[in-house]
Amino acid sequence: MILGLIDHDRGKLDDTSLEMLTLARALAADLRTTLEAVIIGENGRSIADALAAYGVSAVHLVLHEQLDDFAPSAWARGLGQVVDVGNPQAVLAPGSERGNEVLAHLAAQRDQPMAANCTEIKAGGDAYHVTRVRWGGSLLEEALLKGTPKLMSVAPLAVVPTTVTPLTLTINEVAADLSEDDLRVRVTSRVQPDSDKVSLTDAPVVVSGGRGVGSTQGFESLDELAALLGGAVGCSRAVTNEGWRPHADQVGQTGARVSPDLYIACGISGAIQHYAGCKGSKQMLVINTDPEAPIISKADYAIIGDLHEVLPAISEEVRKARN
Ligand code: FAD
Repeated sequence: MILGLIDHDRGKLDDTSLEMLTLARALAADLRTTLEAVIIGENGRSIADALAAYGVSAVHLVLHEQLDDFAPSAWARGLGQVVDVGNPQAVLAPGSERGNEVLAHLAAQRDQPMAANCTEIKAGGDAYHVTRVRWGGSLLEEALLKGTPKLMSVAPLAVVPTTVTPLTLTINEVAADLSEDDLRVRVTSRVQPDSDKVSLTDAPVVVSGGRGVGSTQGFESLDELAALLGGAVGCSRAVTNEGWRPHADQVGQTGARVSPDLYIACGISGAIQHYAGCKGSKQMLVINTDPEAPIISKADYAIIGDLHEVLPAISEEVRKARN
């Protein structure tokens, strides 16, 4: 049996799950076995029926009163319970943030290897041959994956979801056996984003700050310029790690992918993982004190200087031009 973990947000299916099921179905056909799925939480029950059209013959619905929102370690524990009973040859998850995180927890809990973001899977023998996306999409890696079961996530947008004639679906309820430790990290509340703000992924201009901004207060000049240009503020991971901006503002491999008309990178060195998120920008202006910063080689325009002096000067000129 091949087992697929379904990613959903309180009952809203993440489409990467359908991409994963399509690849998992091909793997199951290669191995002449069945495809089954795991859904965590009562609020995911409504998704189950739709999975039959993707070749799923059974859904294991993992239930617990505290599984009403995302809890990575607890999701992995519930998934592991299904693995222990069903002994699948492989467990696949979508390569979404939740899918990768849950599968990584499962691998750690079972002390097994995992291959993240696969685009192709060839079963056979002791090891599977997998192709996987690395370095924010700029590299494809060929790898051999061992372990029983094989643990793999499927790179987003690598597979076009296709349906088949629906199978008769059985639903198997599983009571999750969770400890306090499993539930230590879980979503307990949500904050609505400010609806007046232009969203990072839709903004025509993104003013993005890195470690060079220096502090939470340092972002005031970026906020000011973004507001003047009708844009949004982004940031690098160094910034979210410091807690200066929320993760929702992060641009890059593990953040948002943006493609504005103009990306203004302030105090950002240009690591490949950051560039992966902004390489679709039509024009890039870099403000950096270091003329050797790697991001300058990607820039259409560069200002070598201190962003704390350059940004207020640009805002001032924009204001003057408007008047
Ligand atoms: P730094 O590399 O420290 O650069 C700071 C820059 O600011 C320097 O170029 C410096 O010259 C300049 N500077 C300093 N002071 C000033 C000033 N006053 N005025 C102007 N310029 C100044 N990073 C991301 O951003 N997004 C991701 O999604 C992401 N995902 C990752 C995933 C993985 C698996 C890994 C391993 C890393 C990831 N990273 C990501 C981290 C990435 O590798 C870099 O560490 C990070 O992007 C560096 O951030 P930075 O450019 O802000 O900081």
